[in-house]
Amino acid sequence: MTTFVLQLATLIGAFAFVWGLRLLSSPDSARRGNILAGVGMTIAIIATLLLPMEGAPNNYAWIFGGMIAGGGVGWVSARRIQMTAMPQMVSIFNGLGGACAVVLAMAELIAYYGGDNQMATGQVVIALLALLIGGVSFTGSMLAFAKLQGLIWDNTLTLPRHNVLNIILLAITLGVGIYLLTLGNGPLANTLAYVFLGLSLLYGFSFVIPIGGADMPVVISLLNSFTGLSAAAAGLIYNNQIMLVGGILVGAAGTILTVLMCEAMNRSLLNVLIGGFGGGGASTASAQGDQVVKEVSHNDAAIRLFYSDRVVFVPGYGLAVAQAQKVLKEVDDLLEANGVEVKYAIHPVAGRMPGHMNVLLAEADVPYPKLLDLDDANAALSDTDVVVVVGANDVVNPAAEDDPGSPIYGMPILRVWDAKNVIVLKRSMRPGYAGIQNPLFFHDKTNMLFGDAKDTLSKLTEEIKTL
Ligand code: NDP
Repeated sequence: MTTFVLQLATLIGAFAFVWGLRLLSSPDSARRGNILAGVGMTIAIIATLLLPMEGAPNNYAWIFGGMIAGGGVGWVSARRIQMTAMPQMVSIFNGLGGACAVVLAMAELIAYYGGDNQMATGQVVIALLALLIGGVSFTGSMLAFAKLQGLIWDNTLTLPRHNVLNIILLAITLGVGIYLLTLGNGPLANTLAYVFLGLSLLYGFSFVIPIGGADMPVVISLLNSFTGLSAAAAGLIYNNQIMLVGGILVGAAGTILTVLMCEAMNRSLLNVLIGGFGGGGASTASAQGDQVVKEVSHNDAAIRLFYSDRVVFVPGYGLAVAQAQKVLKEVDDLLEANGVEVKYAIHPVAGRMPGHMNVLLAEADVPYPKLLDLDDANAALSDTDVVVVVGANDVVNPAAEDDPGSPIYGMPILRVWDAKNVIVLKRSMRPGYAGIQNPLFFHDKTNMLFGDAKDTLSKLTEEIKTL
């Protein structure tokens, strides 16, 4: 009976995850989706705690101690985190998910190799997979965190022929894993399990280090799917269905996101993994020679916007840094009140995490139908009077189309110069994440409006109000 009730709870938990995910697909229902998935997780945790496990020691003090410590750190950091640091936080959460799978798998393997516990070969294979995927996800995500935080710049630790070294390292790691399977239990297997762990952690680090610049969204999504897969493998070790379902959902969502991000970059996954291009690489800056940029005053920009028929805003990472989404919405409202049609062009890799711009604009209550995806936006741009680029750079860089030597060559971009006028809001001529100069800033149709985006948009609001 108890088992039946607990299995039912597991089913309800799994249903809540799936339904919560469904609700997350629209900003209107996303908050409810998040809460529902949280309720599902709570039910799953309680059900798992109550599940009778034969021979399991009474370790509730450790479990609750860990939950309180982890929950406390999670709660405080989630409350304090700045919106701009959200991608880094997601990377840390990802990595810690992988680390959990590593710890669980390692505990089981050590008990098995020490003769304290029985495991069938299939279970050992799954535990080794959890160790490998979880380990890669842990060190890879920590490195992604360091890159996003600007602690490590891309390519600084890349060795010559790094991708070949990676293949050799992966082959050695898999070789050690297969040898481990032939050993059964005993002290040698015990030692080799630590070697296997070390190699997995090293591989995660080495696998992510050559990937950088504009390819980061792909690697972040891929690590996300690894975390899910490692959790699913850990669920299999413990025969815990809810962990399995949760892990598979994360793994599947991460895999779908990886495919979408590859499409957004117009690159195959293999190309991203072995291409290894990064920021700070060859810059097209010199190609600009002594060209100068044209600036526009706040007053001029306001007049152009106010007397347009159609305006498109292109938000980028700078919008998040400036936290300017609400002021941007104010400008939008003022223009719409004057009969201007306002839309937002959303590039899939704008910002520093998938969906970053959607989250920011939803926070400012920008209606979802006003958001255009890449293809719709590019189709609409030729019929647009003014495009305002708000802290975006790489996603509007024409070098992606006309400079075969550029690291972002081939990445689909927003062709903002198809519009009649382009106004770029940024603080300086500094490059974006990919570390390359942007010929758009020197384009005939472009005018620069330098300054912090929030400050600039506030000034535009004041100017528009006087018209
Ligand atoms: P970019 O990083 O290319 O450019 C952002 C621009 O914003 C900078 O040029 C900066 O210029 C400007 N900026 C920064 N702060 C402010 C501010 N306070 N006010 C006004 N402007 C500001 O951003 P994009 O969104 O165009 O492109 C995203 C890049 O990040 C792509 O290369 C993408 O591949 C990469 N990436 C994306 C991830 C994702 O999942 N979406 C994850 C990891 C990387 P200045 O300093 O002069 O103000």
